[in-house]
Amino acid sequence: MKMVAIIGGGISGMTAGVLLQKAGFKTEIYEKNALPGGQCTGWKREGYFIDNCIHWLTGTRAGSALNELWKEIGALGEEVELYEKEMFFSSKLNGQVLTFWRDKERTRREMLALSPEDEKEINKLMKYVSMAETMTVPVEKPFDAMNPIDFIKLGKSMKAMGKVMKEYGNMDINELAMRFKHPLIRRAIIDYMPRGYQAYAFLVSYGTVTGGNGDIPKGGSLAMSLRIAEKYKEYGGVIHTNASVKTIILNGKKAEGILLENGKKAEADYIVCACDMDYTFRKLLPEKYMPKGLKKMYVNREKYLVSSGFQIAYAVNGVFSELTGTRVFSCSEMIVGMQKVQSMSVQSYDYEPDFAPEGKMILQTNFSQSEDDYKYWESLYMDKETYNIRKQEIAKQAMERIIDEYPFLAGKIHVIDVWSPMTYTRYCNSYKGAYMSFVTTKQAKSITVPGIVKGIDNVMLASQWLMGPGGLPTAAAMGKFAAWRIINRKDR
Ligand SMILES: Cc1cc2nc3c(=O)[nH]c(=O)nc-3n(C[C@H](O)[C@H](O)[C@H](O)COP(=O)(O)OP(=O)(O)OC[C@H]3O[C@@H](n4cnc5c(N)ncnc54)[C@H](O)[C@@H]3O)c2cc1C
Repeated sequence: MKMVAIIGGGISGMTAGVLLQKAGFKTEIYEKNALPGGQCTGWKREGYFIDNCIHWLTGTRAGSALNELWKEIGALGEEVELYEKEMFFSSKLNGQVLTFWRDKERTRREMLALSPEDEKEINKLMKYVSMAETMTVPVEKPFDAMNPIDFIKLGKSMKAMGKVMKEYGNMDINELAMRFKHPLIRRAIIDYMPRGYQAYAFLVSYGTVTGGNGDIPKGGSLAMSLRIAEKYKEYGGVIHTNASVKTIILNGKKAEGILLENGKKAEADYIVCACDMDYTFRKLLPEKYMPKGLKKMYVNREKYLVSSGFQIAYAVNGVFSELTGTRVFSCSEMIVGMQKVQSMSVQSYDYEPDFAPEGKMILQTNFSQSEDDYKYWESLYMDKETYNIRKQEIAKQAMERIIDEYPFLAGKIHVIDVWSPMTYTRYCNSYKGAYMSFVTTKQAKSITVPGIVKGIDNVMLASQWLMGPGGLPTAAAMGKFAAWRIINRKDR
């Protein structure tokens, strides 16, 4: 039986693992952390559960290949209840509030009441959001293995999406916002995504929610990761936790196995690199093997942007319906990383009462951070004490601003955890602290990279970094493609 060593027990690695086990391979996953899941995770603080990934899971609507994949690997299933988000998010400016509801018609009416002079653009936006609901992540087989018929089928299934791209594919989020006259509509659109994102990403994200294809599995991110790990083990897979891989052992054009940080070696017929791609080609394999497409993006730092977050979790004594959903509001200026910010968000997890003790709730804030911010945190991290002090200062300032916005929280809220882009590098070896892949911008459409390593025959790649802008469906798709390549090898 052929042996596959999988480096990284995130969604990509575990997806590859489940599918390879099913196909009759013997596989073992080596994960540096104590738990599988990678970035799809959560943790406890002071009796509260901090869920740190799924805002929406694309592929919850039955009938798509992606939905089938989620079920096949155990992420979703009959027994997994889904929480249907009622609102995408709301934005507030000068006392006025605009909410992007799951119900598009409700959003349309709210926008029209707010700004009748934007009627044409509002109706157009909503029409195109309906079209964007058809967007899916193709997961059947690697794109380079698709034949003309596969492409025709894919084109047909996403015909409406083609129209969205024609209308909004060549503008960024700021340009989309500027199509509207009303300042709150402009602000709401800009509020949601990091600067530079392409406009269509907003339509696709919102369309995922309105189309019922972006619900949240009950139990949250860590529970989903653990379900996949369980499925993997059911098929006979083995997960080694606290098992950081130091390098891949090469012999000419073949990889022979892996060497762990603890000095142990493991032989393998195939290796799947399912950890960060920059890390892979700096630490695990010689850099010369990095695929050209990836290299282009990593080298071109001005064009291929990445983003991360500075995040804070707060415990709230009480349950307040005014805080339901994700709410963005203006605040007095403060500095986070290298950026001056004048607006912030709070997200409530009240849809999961078990995430907080009875009669209490948990809130989170996420300030988007750029690569420059990452450099700031990276250099501060060298002096841990200063780093921790700065994190706490920002958390305190953010909490004061939340109380300014929601005065009823005075004396009822406190900070329970703070984490920065550096946390992602420390926890997952993530490039520049990013938890998604390269941002697809107008100037730089991200390059889809085949998961093979030219020059080393038996090493496959599986990671969200192979296709921008990343995310859970991409991670799962890339894991599936790595498994597909091994299963369909001619020399098997
Ligand atoms: C705050 C936040 C919100 C998000 N929201 C969403 C969302 O709403 N929807 C969505 O689709 N996506 C979301 N994402 C993104 C999603 O979490 C990622 O796209 C996905 O989890 C990436 O999976 P991966 O397997 O490619 O990488 P990773 O999760 O990074 O997995 C790689 C694994 O490799 C391990 N590893 C690294 N180096 C080594 C080594 N040397 N040896 C052994 N193991 C190693 C790491 O510990 C990790 O477990 C969010 C992420 C975050 C952090």
